[in-house]
Amino acid sequence: MLRPNQKDAAVQNNPHTTLVTPTAPIANDTHGGRAKCLQRLVRLELPVPRTVALSFDAVQRIARGEMPDIAAIVSQFPNGALLCVRPSSEDPDWGGPGAVLNIGMNEARFTALAERLGDAAARAIYTRFVENYAVDVARLDPDVFEDVEGDGPDGLAEALRAYEAELEEPFPGDPAEQLAAVLKSMARAWDGTSARLLRQAKGAPVDAGLGLVVQEMALGLGHGECGSGLLQLVDGETGLPQITGRYLSQSQGRDALAANAAALYLGRDPRGPSLEELAPDAFRALKSHAELMRVKLREEMQVEFVIENGQLFILDGVRVARSSQASVRIAVQLAEDKIISRAEALMRVQPRTLSELLHRQISPLAKRDVIGRGIAASPGAATGHIVFTAAEAQASAARGDPCILVRRETSPEDIRGMHAAHAVLTERGGITSHAAVIGRGIGLPCVVGASNIRFSPSKKQLVARDGRVFAAGEIITIDGSSGQVLAGAPKMREAALDESFQKLMEWASDHCDIGIRANADTPADAQTARNFDAQGIGLCRTEHMFFEPGRLTVMREMIFAETSEDRRAVLERLLPMQRADFTQLFRIMEGRPVCIRLFDPPLHEFLPTDRARQRELAEALDLPLSDVTRRIDSMSEYNPMLGLRGVRLGVTVPEIYEMQARAIFEATIAASAEGLVVVPEIMIPLVSARREVELVKTFIDAVAAAVRTELDQPFDYRLGVMVETPRAALRAAEIAPHCAFLSFGTNDLTQMTYGLSRDDAGRFMSDYVQQGVFPEDPFHVLDTDGVGELLKLGAERGRAAQPDVTLSICGEHGGNPESISFCRDAEFDYVSCSPFRVPVARLAAAQLAIDGYIQYASE
Ligand code: PEP
Ligand code: MG
Repeated sequence: MLRPNQKDAAVQNNPHTTLVTPTAPIANDTHGGRAKCLQRLVRLELPVPRTVALSFDAVQRIARGEMPDIAAIVSQFPNGALLCVRPSSEDPDWGGPGAVLNIGMNEARFTALAERLGDAAARAIYTRFVENYAVDVARLDPDVFEDVEGDGPDGLAEALRAYEAELEEPFPGDPAEQLAAVLKSMARAWDGTSARLLRQAKGAPVDAGLGLVVQEMALGLGHGECGSGLLQLVDGETGLPQITGRYLSQSQGRDALAANAAALYLGRDPRGPSLEELAPDAFRALKSHAELMRVKLREEMQVEFVIENGQLFILDGVRVARSSQASVRIAVQLAEDKIISRAEALMRVQPRTLSELLHRQISPLAKRDVIGRGIAASPGAATGHIVFTAAEAQASAARGDPCILVRRETSPEDIRGMHAAHAVLTERGGITSHAAVIGRGIGLPCVVGASNIRFSPSKKQLVARDGRVFAAGEIITIDGSSGQVLAGAPKMREAALDESFQKLMEWASDHCDIGIRANADTPADAQTARNFDAQGIGLCRTEHMFFEPGRLTVMREMIFAETSEDRRAVLERLLPMQRADFTQLFRIMEGRPVCIRLFDPPLHEFLPTDRARQRELAEALDLPLSDVTRRIDSMSEYNPMLGLRGVRLGVTVPEIYEMQARAIFEATIAASAEGLVVVPEIMIPLVSARREVELVKTFIDAVAAAVRTELDQPFDYRLGVMVETPRAALRAAEIAPHCAFLSFGTNDLTQMTYGLSRDDAGRFMSDYVQQGVFPEDPFHVLDTDGVGELLKLGAERGRAAQPDVTLSICGEHGGNPESISFCRDAEFDYVSCSPFRVPVARLAAAQLAIDGYIQYASE
């Protein structure tokens, strides 16, 4: 159908309205993906109907009312041809206005078509055009055509009458006028607010352009075998090879996919008749064109085709829409088939996609009955009945009954309940709150700070923002990926860590040029980290090891001890537990580095707040209740997050750190006896002054010397500092000489740099982001300007004073692609993030490295 038109240079020489030929100046970023794809198909000499592509620029001008030379465009097509116009945005996922088919239909063409194709086909084409034009271009309400019998002999006349009655003018008969109106309406639709918001939500930039393609219609209706359909070579859900699609005789556009269409399968199929049986030659040609497209376009494509009197036309090819699982499988298979390189396969998978793959998700097809929302704190989705206490969650788990643990906020006492629940919902807290950190650590879907839902634990109910009441026992669903809370049980899509995922991860490791460790507090976390091939543990928060109920009481006893001797006696009981914990971690990590952070509690987190639990504690400690409450009161702080935490506790109550250091060293010796090479890393939290490091280092060195002598075994260890106060970053030059490593704890560093409580910011953060005060929640996305400046300063000063110092980041930002990019640029040695984010971080790091080579190569 491609007939070079020597006559009309106006189109062929104008890059903004250009005929699609093998050499026309068409590019993705000037004419959009569809136009570029059509040019590739033309180059492959596939039977593509004649097409003119309009550039982003031309379409922008059309939207402003500056029309191109319409007559010149029309003259590119044979006299009497019908045309269609389709959108061509830079990324097909950004959408665009719907296609308009059969432009050019009028009385004269109706008569001619009726002769060629038969009256019924001509009538159907004309009626369809009138209705499409009326709704998509003249913006009439579709109800206007409610009574029109489309296929009946009078349908056409009725449609034309309805149009005229509504608009008080006859249906336009001039093909050029019709085309101009279609182009104008599509250009303006792209500029509409809802279209803009929709595409921006899919990642389109504010100034994303729209191209349009004007194509000669292959009709799909008439004598002989005529029809239209779609074909792809893979299943978009699984990514597995499978000829997928439908064909419908006497149809156009996407009719074949309509719910009740009597469409045929494509290949032979036991479920019913197929195109392969109906038109074997056309099917064979179609399949071989699709295979050629896969190889030459280096992508799984959905092929839109028409058969006109037995002859096949390829109208279009678009990238197959795909699930997260399919996107990984397709990229890997294309690389395995040597169609693309492994590096390209890595670049084609969005890190976000992996995160979806690692967790159960709500099916994209499911209907969402949203009853509230909060901060998406730990990805994945789960359904269960509401429980309001950790004990109920455990009871529910014992019955095998999935539940959602609903709390105002969680505390160490809730850990067992969190493990038992399928998801957690809290009223308060931000992205670094207890629930969020634990949730991410154990891969539990979690929404925190859902302040637009009213929590009434005493009445055992939740009140949704629309007034609906959800009592204990009712079913809700938590979507920790979007932050939504939903009524009922929408359909789910399972996590899918298949062979393709493993392969992609191996390839990512080959490119990754920054270390990826995991934050892991328990043997179970460490095992997850190992399964995802983390290169070590970058942060083991030892206080989390005491959240187990059996240990919590001992821990509380230790906190309640009045004298150093009493405290040492309790610590003696904690020592074997810690030694066993660390030995387990070293075993699981098999010689990979394990960085253990010394105890960093806000101590209040360990103390019971309600009377019943205080009474339980009094019983356990064999103390009068009044003593317990008095002690709790005496320990309460106005600002616990800035109080007796971290190294401050280590300096004032050194016995705790001494016990931990001893447990670490004894575990090192025990693990080494099993043949492992273990060099533990001990990290001091919340440092703000050099002297703190000196003090702690002195007594830890003394413990090391004592253990070496007592057990007569040598071992090495590395001592480092967690940089999470602005002062530690600023004074890194005097701190670093005492350290083997500096690890930036960006949760506290963000809190202290902004002076913004990490536990309370959730309440107003969305207002702040919506009003553009902060571009993003800085607890979620690293603030590279402010907090980042401190990281850079700390890194530079630390490295200048101690060139061998290992640099890393271990706050929740560690797994974000943006933070990884920042850390690579600042030449950090590794990032550490929750175990389930390790694959995401590894892919993001590999992509940054590959991007680096590409830029280097193009310089
Ligand atoms: C941090 O502050 O960044 C950090 C990792 O420690 P935590 O979240 O335990 O305070
Ligand atoms: Mg911290």
